[in-house]
Amino acid sequence: MKIHHLNAATMCPLGARLLGAEGGLFDRARFVCHVLLIETADGLVLVDTGLGSGDIADPKRLGGAFLSVLGPKLDPAETALAQVKALGFSADDVRHVVLTHMDLDHAGGLSDFPKAKVHLHAREHEAAMARRSLQAKSRYIPAQWAHGPSWQLYDGIGEDWFGFSGVRALSDAETEVLLVPLHGHTAGHCGVAVRTAAGWLLHAGDAYFFSGSLDAEARTPAGIAVFQRFTDTIGAERRRNQERLRQLKLSRGREVTIFCAHDPGEFDACCRR
Ligand SMILES: [Zn+2]
Repeated sequence: MKIHHLNAATMCPLGARLLGAEGGLFDRARFVCHVLLIETADGLVLVDTGLGSGDIADPKRLGGAFLSVLGPKLDPAETALAQVKALGFSADDVRHVVLTHMDLDHAGGLSDFPKAKVHLHAREHEAAMARRSLQAKSRYIPAQWAHGPSWQLYDGIGEDWFGFSGVRALSDAETEVLLVPLHGHTAGHCGVAVRTAAGWLLHAGDAYFFSGSLDAEARTPAGIAVFQRFTDTIGAERRRNQERLRQLKLSRGREVTIFCAHDPGEFDACCRR
């Protein structure tokens, strides 16, 4: 089993100083869309998809607010598809996609892998299909799954995973991928835990946005705190789960490498490892 860490969309929002990055108010920060590509005996598994070629061909579908606030680079070479091909694989080699949630910057690449089975929490799928609120309409973009993926939905409690409940999505002799409910950012948001020879990885999606939020002395830059609240679906659950992740990192940080979707420092550290 081999794991690649891919950045499947760079985003450059204004206000670097408020976002924990180097620079002033009018400098742009750098955020990544951290995607895992796992080579398994049963083909390739992607964890999240970033933005995809459909988004780059028609950026308007992402909405004016997303484009102006987050400033995505929209570089075709950054799509997961382009990076899968650069590694010598084809789109059809991707047999499974496991999603932390269905926000536009995580589900954008779905249509680049039309034959993949898409695994996610049932509560998230329901929320994305229903798009009940204005917030839901701006974050869930039906054009991203208009090709009609084969969904594999999960609910229920699952088994104990370091004090969290882990629902097994994929497993064979060497691969184990669990959905770990971390609801709050969205209704059915999950982390995705991957067992590797060197310990567990936990892709925590958007359960937090800044590595310092999980430090012993937690600190979250002002701009990120505002963004986090603005994008919360259930704020109390998001705050509770972020605190649980902080405790997990403090107590089991040697066994579990935790990273979120957008922190560039965490991404660079994973690539170096
Ligand atoms: Zn996100």
